[in-house]
Amino acid sequence: MLGISGTATTLLLLILGATVRADEPTTEEQMAANLGMSKFLVHFSRFACPESPSTGDKAECVAYGYQPVTDAFAKNEFPPIWVPVAGVSNDTEGYQKFLSINGSVPNIAPKGVNGVPTPNLAYDAAKDPDCWWTNTQCVTPKHDGVKADIADVPEPKTLGYGFDDGPYCGHNEFYNFLTSKGQKATMFYIGSNVVDGPLQAQRAVKDGHELCVHTWAHPSMTALTNEQVFGELWYTIKAIKLVTGVTPTCWRPPRGDADDRVRFIAQSLGLDTIMWKYDSFDWEQGTNGVTPADVQNNYNKLINDAKSGVLNSRGAILLTHELSNYTMQTAVDNYPKLVEAFDYIVPVGVAYNKTNPYAETSVTQPSFAQFAAAHGGPPAPSGSASSSPKSASGSPPAPSASGVKLDNSNSTKANNHSGAVTVRLQLPATILAFVGLAMTFAV
Ligand SMILES: [Zn+2]
Repeated sequence: MLGISGTATTLLLLILGATVRADEPTTEEQMAANLGMSKFLVHFSRFACPESPSTGDKAECVAYGYQPVTDAFAKNEFPPIWVPVAGVSNDTEGYQKFLSINGSVPNIAPKGVNGVPTPNLAYDAAKDPDCWWTNTQCVTPKHDGVKADIADVPEPKTLGYGFDDGPYCGHNEFYNFLTSKGQKATMFYIGSNVVDGPLQAQRAVKDGHELCVHTWAHPSMTALTNEQVFGELWYTIKAIKLVTGVTPTCWRPPRGDADDRVRFIAQSLGLDTIMWKYDSFDWEQGTNGVTPADVQNNYNKLINDAKSGVLNSRGAILLTHELSNYTMQTAVDNYPKLVEAFDYIVPVGVAYNKTNPYAETSVTQPSFAQFAAAHGGPPAPSGSASSSPKSASGSPPAPSASGVKLDNSNSTKANNHSGAVTVRLQLPATILAFVGLAMTFAV
């Protein structure tokens, strides 16, 4: 359903963007490799990605202006996109907040510079003093006062369903699919993508998905200073709030790169850290020798574990991506198999009875019991979600997203671009590039 049209289509893309990062490979760079594109192009704008799901969705990927974002960039309220945040010293509110927590941050040295990990860093993996996930997959902190990660869900035969790296410009057909199934998920959004695709980000909240932070520029978080870690999260929270009106309370580190220092800074901003124990490696397809069959095998591992009883005491979280036509199509293809294998497929927060997924109470999501009752599966085991790291307070409100105020006036723009290209003006002039690129699709 997400195949590229067979009709030859010429698409003129105006590519605007930021300076090119010189850090380690990211999923975006992997996507570039998948597509045979240069890193340069992808880092100039995700909207340059030609792998939109369909002819209609290609139109969604034409850049457009959105006034609140334009105004915020004009006032220098955000750092350059796709560049690791340098700091927050020019942001009065952010800097005060940072100073208020910095003295309590566990004393752990950054494991790299400016988001680039130090090669062959000496680290005692046996002791794992920092609970460094990248090295040991540690999710139980070693430092006092640091909240444990969420890496699975407490409900049996339940899948915590989510997608990283969005909002993807051409995701409407995928989101339509999820909506057609009544399926909600946890979406881990990159701040740079949120300001590039504000209408796409709004759709996630309108559709009732749970929005979490996935950093501003997708760096390796343990390779940043305290202030940079803070900034990556701070500006992504701020972007999501500006565009959708809600303030996330969860995040996922790119590549899982967190340690107790990073976790502490995140929790100081009110963010739960959400990891995973099953990885589809969908982002890697086409690179490093990873084939579609390999990715399917990874999905099958989860599906078989659910069917064979491995997940009968606790459910699972699977890492997948809203990154390309391939990753979304693979999610669509596997959805019926997941439905068959699991009793419930829910946003991660639902499995933890997080009925208030945002700082604002205007948007709620069901408790697990409410979800189970509404979906007619086996009765939820009584009290089985009591291990919730953040229990719901009081009687849970009825599931509703009606309280959120979204800008619907432009929503059709994302769904139905006229094809006219709108020059985006919100980026700082010093990093603004203007490139016209004619791309011919003759699939
Ligand atoms: Zn990611």
